[in-house]
Amino acid sequence: MTKELISIVIPCYNEEEVINICHDALTKVIDDMDYNFEIIYINDGSFDNTKSLLEAIYQKDKRAVIINFSRNFGKEAAMTAGIDNARGGALIILDADLQDPPSLIPDMIAIWKETGADVVYGQRIEREGETWFKKFTSNGFYNVINFIANNVEIPKNTGDFRLMNRRSIDALIQLREKHRFMKGLFAWIGFHQVAMQYNREPRAAGKTKWNYFQLFNLAMEGIAGFSTKPLRVASLFGLLISIASFMFGIFIIFKTLFYGSDVAGWASISVMIAFLSGIQLLTIGVLGEYIGRIFGETKKRPLYFIDTVIKK
Ligand code: UDP
Ligand code: MG
Repeated sequence: MTKELISIVIPCYNEEEVINICHDALTKVIDDMDYNFEIIYINDGSFDNTKSLLEAIYQKDKRAVIINFSRNFGKEAAMTAGIDNARGGALIILDADLQDPPSLIPDMIAIWKETGADVVYGQRIEREGETWFKKFTSNGFYNVINFIANNVEIPKNTGDFRLMNRRSIDALIQLREKHRFMKGLFAWIGFHQVAMQYNREPRAAGKTKWNYFQLFNLAMEGIAGFSTKPLRVASLFGLLISIASFMFGIFIIFKTLFYGSDVAGWASISVMIAFLSGIQLLTIGVLGEYIGRIFGETKKRPLYFIDTVIKK
């Protein structure tokens, strides 16, 4: 009887410093396991030595599949390509920098088999090597998104490290939206999902690809991609301000009738103009977020282009 195939998906962007360490750590774990594996490396347009290192890995280990993108499309697209191309009955997503320790793969598979769950997601207990500011902002983000998101509950402290069975892979493959907030999509498909607690390691080597501006963008992506509540808030603002102006208008009329008009009041006028312009710009910005998203989706561009594939 042939053993069950499990696909491991590893997005790589300029990971020359860790890619070999990653492959060695991974093979050490999976060599002893009673499953067949394919290891899908997605080279997301790296401009360092990652590409040739991956080719060398394929030369010595034919379980590797190398997908070279035509340029950098981002981790979300890289993961999507891995998910699209996985042939296994289950798939595990790993970061190349060993922050999601390959040594946990046996546990993950065991939990999957024991619980019969469709998805086993890694949930960080502690975040080593990260600043209090990052922990604080990340916490705040989960609170906000779960408060406002429609139809989805995104579990706290989860990344992309997870095992998915075939039917959840097939579900995810059907979600082709361009603005991909994967944490949200992973949760959105539903099914039976269980957590596996783990300690997230600091990066083995190399540098993180994220800066705070990108994290802010990701947060906006999550919020605008999974909720229309900001639009509601804009309407509510408009309503409240209209009611207030109406009452203020009545007040002015009576004041003029009984006390006559005077030219004082330029200060309150300028404050009101400034305040209202601020609110207007804000709500136009909120509208713009959604219009931008519509623009992105209507172009119907593919999520990524593959330059070359190396596989057995
Ligand atoms: N990554 C990618 N494309 C990108 C940025 C990152 O494929 O444009 C990969 C990267 O090689 C790594 C994973 O995504 O395997 C996580 O990236 P990183 O460690 O920089 O993020 P962090 O762990 O700090 O969230
Ligand atoms: Mg990392």
